[in-house]
Amino acid sequence: MALVISKVEQVSIFGKTHTYKYATCECGSEIVLDDFTNYCDDCERIYDFSGHRLSSPRNWGEDTGEHWTDVANYSWHDDW
Ligand SMILES: [Zn+2]
Repeated sequence: MALVISKVEQVSIFGKTHTYKYATCECGSEIVLDDFTNYCDDCERIYDFSGHRLSSPRNWGEDTGEHWTDVANYSWHDDW
């Protein structure tokens, strides 16, 4: 279950385009998705760049049976 992206901003930084996606966390706070792991300041939930909820790093590889790099690879190919 991915978050709904509410707004996308593209900012050119030193000639390189950087994309910021805004979404509303499950706790109701607005968060910015600009990295492969994005923490909500208020509830510490973690989302990937596409707004998919990630489990806590301490659980990676345990509760999902996947290594965290599998999750990262998945997000590379995820169309939003
Ligand atoms: Zn939150």
